[in-house]
Amino acid sequence: MSRRVFVVEDETQIAQILHDYLVNAGYRVEIFGDGRSALTAFQESPPDLFLLDLMLPEVDGLTVCKEVRKTSEVPIIMLTAKAEEIDRLLGLELGADDYICKPFSPREVVARAKANLRRWPAAGESGEKESEGLFHQPESQRYLYDGKPLSLTNTEYKILALMHDSPGRVYSRAQLLDLCYDPDQDVSDRAIDSHVKNLRKKLKEVHPAGDLIHSVYGVGYRYER
Ligand code: CA
Repeated sequence: MSRRVFVVEDETQIAQILHDYLVNAGYRVEIFGDGRSALTAFQESPPDLFLLDLMLPEVDGLTVCKEVRKTSEVPIIMLTAKAEEIDRLLGLELGADDYICKPFSPREVVARAKANLRRWPAAGESGEKESEGLFHQPESQRYLYDGKPLSLTNTEYKILALMHDSPGRVYSRAQLLDLCYDPDQDVSDRAIDSHVKNLRKKLKEVHPAGDLIHSVYGVGYRYER
């Protein structure tokens, strides 16, 4: 399941921009134009992250933050119109995790959202898997990296799913052929190499820190962080 983000912001244009960027980053986003409806929705089904504007109709951001903190440690990023406001908010010890001052770059907000979500385990997921960055969604046959879906071919997906399920285990080209292709497909070892090469390239783009799929000389491949 992709992570759920509540955007609580009464300026519809800002809310819409945040919505678009966050959806693009792979999140499910719900917009609330006032504090009261956000709190009601939170009580029904809490999100994984709040982007919470300070000045809101009905119930303001301060109150929403305090109410949420009574029952939940869900990450809260406060949006404020004035930089000097941040010092005052910090002094109130609201328990917000992060503060962003308007005007902001939507990219910056997405980066901060990701950073805050990383320490918050997804429902039904262990924290370890989340911090790894690579996340398998078998029900939709796809992989996410930091919440963003990877664009993989069917074969690349099968190869990754096989190796990712058994980290450290070495798979020979013949095994990959047997396990990732239909028996009637005519595929060479060389084709496997080229699929793995493309897969590694895609993983490298999202995880530049190092290869996740390693070559084992003369044998095949293994997945390891
Ligand atoms: Ca506002």
